[in-house]
Amino acid sequence: MEYLLHVLTEKCTGCMDCVEACPIEDGIRVIPLPTLPERWDIVVCRHCNPAPCVEVCEFGALSVSANGAVILNQSLCTSCKACTAVCPFGAVFLRPDGTMAKCDLCSGSPRCVAACEEGALVYERVERKRVLIRGKPSMVELLEFKGLR
Ligand code: SF4
Ligand code: SF4
Repeated sequence: MEYLLHVLTEKCTGCMDCVEACPIEDGIRVIPLPTLPERWDIVVCRHCNPAPCVEVCEFGALSVSANGAVILNQSLCTSCKACTAVCPFGAVFLRPDGTMAKCDLCSGSPRCVAACEEGALVYERVERKRVLIRGKPSMVELLEFKGLR
């Protein structure tokens, strides 16, 4: 069994409770949609399987934990931003201090999900996790676009 984090942006009111509950600075971001008033985008890692960020990291800084969470090891990270380039959800952030940040699923009990009273974040058990990246550019295309390969 694996767990899947669903993001239902249509339910988000922009209250920022999830952002405040996250123990990782920049683990999750809530961003106003420029073209739609009072609408918000929730930007957080979906813990893809397979995960393009894990595949692209040449430094072994990203890995998959036993509970299926994609984990960032800061001590191995060089802030090269290759993971940011390939993430289809824009969910690996470069902080102002130059370090990278992403969700680690709070060891399997995400606090953002517990904090969201609107039900915009849902964490559920599934037989087999499939996180889709359909319609998105391939990793190689993204890397070439970003001038990283
Ligand atoms: S590609 Fe993005 S959404 Fe998918 S596991 Fe990596 S950081 Fe998370
Ligand atoms: S920024 Fe860090 S985690 Fe991301 S690909 Fe580069 S070394 Fe890996």
